[in-house]
Amino acid sequence: MKFYWIKTHFLIKKIFSGFVWDFPTTEKKVYLTFDDGPTPEVTEWTLDQLKQFDAKATFFCIGENIQKHPEIFQKLVQEGHSIGNHTFNHLNGWKTSTENYIENFKQCEAEILKQFSILHLKSKLFRPPYGKIKFGQSKIAKGMGYKIIMWDVLSADFDTTVSPEKCLQNVIKNAKSGSVIIFHDSLKASKNLEHALPKTLAFLKENGYKCEAI
Ligand SMILES: [Zn+2]
Repeated sequence: MKFYWIKTHFLIKKIFSGFVWDFPTTEKKVYLTFDDGPTPEVTEWTLDQLKQFDAKATFFCIGENIQKHPEIFQKLVQEGHSIGNHTFNHLNGWKTSTENYIENFKQCEAEILKQFSILHLKSKLFRPPYGKIKFGQSKIAKGMGYKIIMWDVLSADFDTTVSPEKCLQNVIKNAKSGSVIIFHDSLKASKNLEHALPKTLAFLKENGYKCEAI
């Protein structure tokens, strides 16, 4: 049994206050995020859903996938979404030396910069795969001008033992103003995503929430 928090515990946010967990606000807006793409079909389907609800989001892309699917990656920015670095090979920071981790992180940055001048990007965003990063690694990334974006609400769409409906409930029961919500535009998560995303977008709209890019 895997363990994770659906709603990030306030003590975790407090202890790791150098990371962004949410954007406290009284305005009704949330930040949808999608990790692990670009993935053919899944990412394009996600973009269509977002467009239908006039929602903007943030995509944390794996460098290797950007290299394979640059045209989908370009589309993310063209459609007004934000993009962020998610390392080149989806490395687990806790299991990787800082030197190798930063090298892989820079490799992803280089892939992003092949597609876009940094001037086209609103800000430099990084999400460590699995949310696992060593202090020294995060210090270097921050020193390079990156904001480290974690999350407040986990859909658990990546977990194939979680039902699509549970995945939806994880989001709509826990989202509040300023929440950063995490989904995955990956093949593994697609079954849960296909159910949960349209219903999440409809729920947010009915309840007056706007979806913004970070
Ligand atoms: Zn990931």
